[in-house]
Parts: sequence; structure tokens; C-alpha cells
Amino acid sequence: MRKKIIGANWKMNLSLQEARTLFQGITTLKELDSTIDLVVFPPQVFTGLLQPTPTVKLGAQNAFGPELYGAFTGETSLKQLQDLNVTSVIVGHSERRMLFDEHDRFLCDKALTALSMGFQVFFCCGESDEVRIKGKAISYVREQLAPLLSVLNEEACASLVIAYEPIWAIGTGKIPTLSEIEEIHASIRELLKEYMDEDHANSIRIVYGGSCNATNAKSIFQLPNVDGGLVGGASLQLDSVKEIIASL
Ligand code: PEP
Repeated sequence: MRKKIIGANWKMNLSLQEARTLFQGITTLKELDSTIDLVVFPPQVFTGLLQPTPTVKLGAQNAFGPELYGAFTGETSLKQLQDLNVTSVIVGHSERRMLFDEHDRFLCDKALTALSMGFQVFFCCGESDEVRIKGKAISYVREQLAPLLSVLNEEACASLVIAYEPIWAIGTGKIPTLSEIEEIHASIRELLKEYMDEDHANSIRIVYGGSCNATNAKSIFQLPNVDGGLVGGASLQLDSVKEIIASL
């Protein structure tokens, strides 16, 4: 049985005071217990000012890798994030891929470095609307995941979370149909079985992201191959975080 997990990706939103208040509010939610994993990804600059708890972990929206120190102006090292009690990192978010030109090879190296250091990695994949219209969503997602899966060792499986996030659904209010979500998640599960034994393939969590909110979360989370969500906009309000957690 895979443990359900929610990632709250705050992106470049909130003032320090708002971030503190929301984080504090989340830590007091009675819906949280040891049967659920919750990771908050605050704006990086606030990371050291928020304290994770046993039920609310701290994540980084991005990090540099594979180098851990050096002349990389403006970047954040995985080592430095560890000093701030960060235990998860998002790798390959479509905004990083598109706006900052991060490509599959670089992302694979970054994910491997983070996994080898003991981080939990939310590795994002997902197609554009153009790719989906051409009927190529599944093959596109497979190509995004293959470089990482081909070199992943079995110990790292427990720390890998695959986030399927169709680009056209992120921040748009549009989501795929439930059968489309399950079809892609099931095909990612099949892909995992091509690279590892059945037990390890069945242990990796696959979460959905893209306009997931308090209204649609329950129906998405009941799909057999959906193990939770990576939530952007809807994770900025305490009430909707509460309802999304309650939908697991
Ligand atoms: C995201 O950016 O990871 C995301 C899922 O955003 P939203 O929930 O706002 O669509």
C-alpha cells in the first residue's frame, strides 16, 4: 500500500508574513497524521525561516546539481538546503524546463545527485496541449522519464515521487478527464516495470498536478494509480489545503 502524499508548491507567491501564517496554519491541521505525507515548497528565500514538523516537511522548488559548491551565481546548493532541514526537492517542473531551459540530461543528473544525498525527489513530467492533440502524450512522458529510470538504483525508489503535470492544466483551471489521468498514470506504472522488478515499480508514488483543487481532488485521488497531488494555486489558502488533505 503506497502512502498518499501532497506537495504544496507555493511558487514565487506570498510575503514572509503570509508564508509564516500559512505554514503555521498547516502545521496545526488535525487532518494530518502519520498516514499522510505533506511537503510544503515555499519560496526558496523563506526556507530557513520555516521549521518543518514531524507531519509537515520542507521542500525546495529547485536546487542546483550535480555540483554542490562553486561559482554558480544565484543558485542554491543541495548541501545548503540540507542545512535548512529541507528534505524534498522538485526537479523538472515545466516552468523550469520552459523558462529556464532545463533539459532532460541536466534534470536527470540533478535528480540523481539529490537522491544520492537522501532527498525525496518530486520528478515532474507532462505534455503540452500540442503534444496531447497529436495523441503523443504517453510517449512524450515516457521519453521524459526514461533517462532517469534507466540509471535509478533500487534503494532510490522509496525517495522518488513522479509528478504527472500536463502543462496545459497548470494554473489554467483545466484538467484532463479522470480516465485520461488514470491512463497516463497506469502507463507510467507500466514503464516503471520495464526498468525494475514489480515490487519496486509498485512502490513508487505517482502524483497528479495541474489545477488540482478542493473541488476536484477527491475524484482524482480515488484513481488507482494516483497517490496524491502536487498542488500549486490551491495550496496558497489554508481552507483548500485542509480540504485537499481530507480528500486523500
Ligand atoms: C504546479 O505548478 O505544480 C501546479 C500543479 O500548479 P497549479 O496547481 O496551480 O495548476
